[in-house]
Amino acid sequence: MSDVVERFMRYVQVDSPSDPENEEETPSTPLQHGMAHMLGQDLEEIGCVDVQVDEHAYVTATLPASAGAEELPALCLCAHIDTSFDAPSLDVRPHLVHYEGGNLLAGTVDGKEVYTTPDQVPDLKKFVGQDIVCSDGSTLLGADDKAGVAEICSLLSRLVANPQMPHPALKIAFVPDEEIGHGASLLDLDKLGAAWGYTVDGEDLGEFSYETFNASAAVVRIRGVMVHPGTAKGVMVNAITVASEFMQMVPAAERPEHTSDREGFYHPTSVRGTASDVSLAFIVRDHDAAIFEQREQTLRDIAAFLNKRYGEGTVEVSIHEQYRNMAEAFGDCPFLIDNALAAYREAGVEPNVIPTRGGTDGSQLSLRGLPCPNIATGGYNAHSVREFIPVSSLETTVDILQNLVAKFAVPQRA
Ligand SMILES: [Zn+2]
Repeated sequence: MSDVVERFMRYVQVDSPSDPENEEETPSTPLQHGMAHMLGQDLEEIGCVDVQVDEHAYVTATLPASAGAEELPALCLCAHIDTSFDAPSLDVRPHLVHYEGGNLLAGTVDGKEVYTTPDQVPDLKKFVGQDIVCSDGSTLLGADDKAGVAEICSLLSRLVANPQMPHPALKIAFVPDEEIGHGASLLDLDKLGAAWGYTVDGEDLGEFSYETFNASAAVVRIRGVMVHPGTAKGVMVNAITVASEFMQMVPAAERPEHTSDREGFYHPTSVRGTASDVSLAFIVRDHDAAIFEQREQTLRDIAAFLNKRYGEGTVEVSIHEQYRNMAEAFGDCPFLIDNALAAYREAGVEPNVIPTRGGTDGSQLSLRGLPCPNIATGGYNAHSVREFIPVSSLETTVDILQNLVAKFAVPQRA
């Protein structure tokens, strides 16, 4: 078994799901501490310096630059140690399946076969005759993002064993709770001291992403006028009725279930209330900053229209920004994109640039001043009991990372 596969198999067997019900605490589950400590030890063994595992399960470390690259800016490599809560995630038992084509069988659970068809994942045909890591079908695999963690560790180990391979100082950050939106939020960027970086997370082999949504959350508060229903004529304003009017004015085709690629959306996420007081929650998403702002304005315009009809103060919209499209951060450092595309091609992989329909740790980091596009781990079917990752994806991604860090061992030109 190659180094990256051995690490990957070991890491996925350490359960470390995050828990959306315990967002206030970081990490959201004590299990993530176990994963963090194991990685701290591994990074020490590999030969990293300044290895730190903090009380929030953040793991940071430095691999000093190769000879001649000491004066160049440090490069961050970031992956997350938590796994999703969308599928059973405890007691993960990975195994290698030799794939001969057809359906990829992960295992049999309660007499039912758990498999992926080539129709579901057309990339499968690229892996005929190869070994693929699957769970036993009863849990997710955790390639999202233990594959990213294993690929980074394996790269470090390779660089230490081959001091002639060029690279700048590498700043490693393994972060908890990415799946519940915290991710890199508590990462101390001044202390980390990297100029730029990459996240290694999610996505099929070859995918490269430097664009995410712009994202905000809106709360629409509707206050009705309540009187006895027997004497309500001309006086009562029912908040539920107004809420339903509000919903009808939000463009119906612009919802997640009707949009793809670069189309943004409004997504109602919750409704709570009574005839006198209703709260509607939405998330708003768009890659394009101008259209994104227009969407937020649309919600305010609907409120203004309803306030004219029902009285000022009936509908109140409050919007808070969640993250921005990280593409905004790459104006001054286009080489972060060019270097990545070249690194993929040198490893024999044609990059597939996709606008992410969501956010990544990188969208947060980019906004905070550490531009971070995303390199795919090569995993498939994330957040599912059908999650898998081909051995060749793990190995190729380490090659991509090796090519990538070499490009930062010379000064960058914007
Ligand atoms: Zn992930």
